[in-house]
Amino acid sequence: MPTRDELHQWDRRRHWHAFTQMQEYEPLIFVRGQGCRLWDIDGNEYLDGVSSLWCNVHGHRHPRIDAAVRGQLDRVAHVTNLGAGNPSAIELAERLVEVTPPGLDHVFFSDDGATAVEVALKIAFQYQRQRKTPTPEKTMFVAFGEAYHGDTLGVVSVGGVARFHKMFKPLVFDVLRVPSPGMYRLPEDVTRANACEYHLSHLRAVFEQHGDKIAAVVLEPLVQGAAGIVTQPAGFLRAARELTRRFDALLIADEVAVGFGRTGRMFACEHEDVTPDLMCLGKGITGGYLPVAATLATREIYEAFLGEYGELKTFFHGHTYGGNPLGCAAALASLAVFEEEQTISNLPPKIARLSEHLARIAELPHVGDVRQCGMMAGIELVADKATAEPFDFRAKRGYRVCAAAREKGVWLRPLGDVIVIMPPLAITLEELDQVCQAAEYGIRVATGKNPD
Ligand SMILES: *Cc1c(COP(=O)(O)O)cnc(C)c1O
Repeated sequence: MPTRDELHQWDRRRHWHAFTQMQEYEPLIFVRGQGCRLWDIDGNEYLDGVSSLWCNVHGHRHPRIDAAVRGQLDRVAHVTNLGAGNPSAIELAERLVEVTPPGLDHVFFSDDGATAVEVALKIAFQYQRQRKTPTPEKTMFVAFGEAYHGDTLGVVSVGGVARFHKMFKPLVFDVLRVPSPGMYRLPEDVTRANACEYHLSHLRAVFEQHGDKIAAVVLEPLVQGAAGIVTQPAGFLRAARELTRRFDALLIADEVAVGFGRTGRMFACEHEDVTPDLMCLGKGITGGYLPVAATLATREIYEAFLGEYGELKTFFHGHTYGGNPLGCAAALASLAVFEEEQTISNLPPKIARLSEHLARIAELPHVGDVRQCGMMAGIELVADKATAEPFDFRAKRGYRVCAAAREKGVWLRPLGDVIVIMPPLAITLEELDQVCQAAEYGIRVATGKNPD
């Protein structure tokens, strides 16, 4: 076993961390988890306020999921799904069809959110060429400002977060871009009451101008996560669905962040009775245990890929670990826990408690906006509350908030100057209080007010 000091040194020198400026990286090494808590190598205890990056659902070391993974290990750890099946993947496909909105009947497995969306983009493109009456001129995607669908190049093309995506512009394909459907920093003549109509007018204009070229709209239903937990006006998703139908384009719903109970319903699309043509799942699908992702498709899409081998209608795409039995066993167990623990029906009091904390935090002098959808929340810090003028990003206020929250035993990770609160759905009210109080303490410290 390496020593603590070796681990620190190697973590700093050898381990190139995701989304991390390594020049200033200070190792934070987690060695153990239990329920909503994590322990670092020095024995410090933290509440997991970001669900280990938005994926933990029922807490760490859940006995039901642990046992399912162990049970699968006693059978086989991995077999391919290229031309073969395994009981865990097969059953998971069946269960996912049951729990997702009606009409999504086929499941393509991959291993990360990015790959799930990548798969959806390619299926949508190929579908337009192979459908009963082919429309090969439909090659373009509509994507939103501030959208985030992962970091591989296909999904970077549809991504719209400038600080992540701008650099790679020369490498990616063109998309039809419409503004982020948020409700903060709206133009002067737009209010929250008419924000939905405002955003729809942009989407409608793109369809009216380019409708015959549009293969699909790709969106994060209800909330743009990485944009800074940007919540959308009620009715926007439903109206976007109607526009895609009217102009004969597909709707790709990226539920990687919002799926599996995060919004208070099993899937965000349920809030507006929407069945997308393609739905992408990741993050919480295994309860936050193992990398599994899935792209669900309607029968109409699936059938466009059927034919004699020589017709080359096959979807020539795959990921080595797609349908991995260990991951699928974890995902099946997580779905069982949703039922056994009534995870969704236990959420309303937690969502209400989170709202109460946010209402208080919203009063702080440098909090420009608080946004919440179910068990996901974002608190945006600004230099000037009246004008919504941001802080200089180099001051790293968000990071400073989270560093201070750690002193209070809570682990958070910001999105720029947005403090994200996204605890496991299994969190208790008392633990939720601690997470929110630590965030508030952090905000007071990092925005220069006296703590406590
Ligand atoms: C995290 C995320 C992704 C990417 O998932 P990875 O597993 O990190 O590749 C895609 N879409 C949304 C909405 C996400 O939040």
